[in-house]
Amino acid sequence: MAEIRKEMPCENVPVYEFVDVNSKEFHIGTFRKLWVDVLNPEMYSYSGTAPEIEDVELIEEMGIEPAILEELKNICSVDSLRSKHEDQDIIPSESHLSTLKLRKRRQDYKETLTRDMVDRHEVYANEMEMLSVGKRPDNVRDLIPEGEVILTFNIIYWEFACSPLVGVGFLQFRLVRAFQTLHVLGSQKLTDLRDVICCVSDLQVFGEFSNTPDMVPQFISKDHYKSAFFFFNGTFYNDTRFPECQDISKVIKEWTRSRDFPDFKTARMEDTSFNDLQMKVGFPYLYTHQGDCEHVVVLTDVRLVHQDDCLDIKLYPLITHKHRVMTRKCSVCHLYISRWITTNDALAPMDPCLFCDQCFRMFHYDDKGNKVGDFLAYAYVDPGTFN
Ligand SMILES: [Zn+2]
Ligand SMILES: [Zn+2]
Repeated sequence: MAEIRKEMPCENVPVYEFVDVNSKEFHIGTFRKLWVDVLNPEMYSYSGTAPEIEDVELIEEMGIEPAILEELKNICSVDSLRSKHEDQDIIPSESHLSTLKLRKRRQDYKETLTRDMVDRHEVYANEMEMLSVGKRPDNVRDLIPEGEVILTFNIIYWEFACSPLVGVGFLQFRLVRAFQTLHVLGSQKLTDLRDVICCVSDLQVFGEFSNTPDMVPQFISKDHYKSAFFFFNGTFYNDTRFPECQDISKVIKEWTRSRDFPDFKTARMEDTSFNDLQMKVGFPYLYTHQGDCEHVVVLTDVRLVHQDDCLDIKLYPLITHKHRVMTRKCSVCHLYISRWITTNDALAPMDPCLFCDQCFRMFHYDDKGNKVGDFLAYAYVDPGTFN
């Protein structure tokens, strides 16, 4: 161990800063290089060793005869675990035994049942991960280069509790939870990660529409407000890909300058790849978009690409998990997903109150479409949209 330490620059090997919480910071690109230098290329190569070569290697390593190896293979084979007499569970229908008749009746009944035991979301979530395992690209050019590094990020979803529009009814969402888990390649830019983070704030339509419910515009916040930043280790990485992008970290930097904080740096999100970053595993970093919609971003794992990973570069960043969010139903019919949220609404039982389109219109407008009562109405985008 001491010898290895002498060879390696220690600061680029993750060491726990707080045990079981986060590591000390290290340079992702250098960490990758250290692994690639130390490992035999066969270890991270996609072409597996041929079975014949594996056999020869095993014979040499264990110092045994080929006949013994064959015997070992037979004894340790998975097939040896199988029973020779498989229970087919076929019950003769013409049996005179009462026990068999009962069993047959029960079996027939079971077949008529439609069972949905597994949560449908779980099936989907598993599929997301399982679908991509071992996937190879159709075109060889899209194969991830050997020795590439994969970073796993958890995106924590917590802006429900922070949004001024939604209040008391959503407090249970204060629970911090990983909304998305993503795999990103070390060579990918920070903007690649930014583009796959799903958040309802990007889909909001701004404005109050109680007087003109038919005039809700089609454009969403994402089309208008494209500024965003990641805050990694004292540097604000701003998205500056579009002319309308602004440095929304400026106000924070000005605030910190007037207090006794160290000077924070700024860089471009689209010019920085993950290999360029100094990061800590397990440390809460920040992603901010739509002005003040904040998400905690946690790097949970850094490792080399394995031949069983999804090897199609086009599928990265790869979403491996998405948390299921409860859809908010209309407060009146409890049937349809809400599309409107009202405040200062004398007719509503609560403030704010959610409505589906049909109930909202029946409740708040007369036959001629005139507004009834006093209220403010905003378009509502359900977080379940991403389910
Ligand atoms: Zn957000
Ligand atoms: Zn309704």
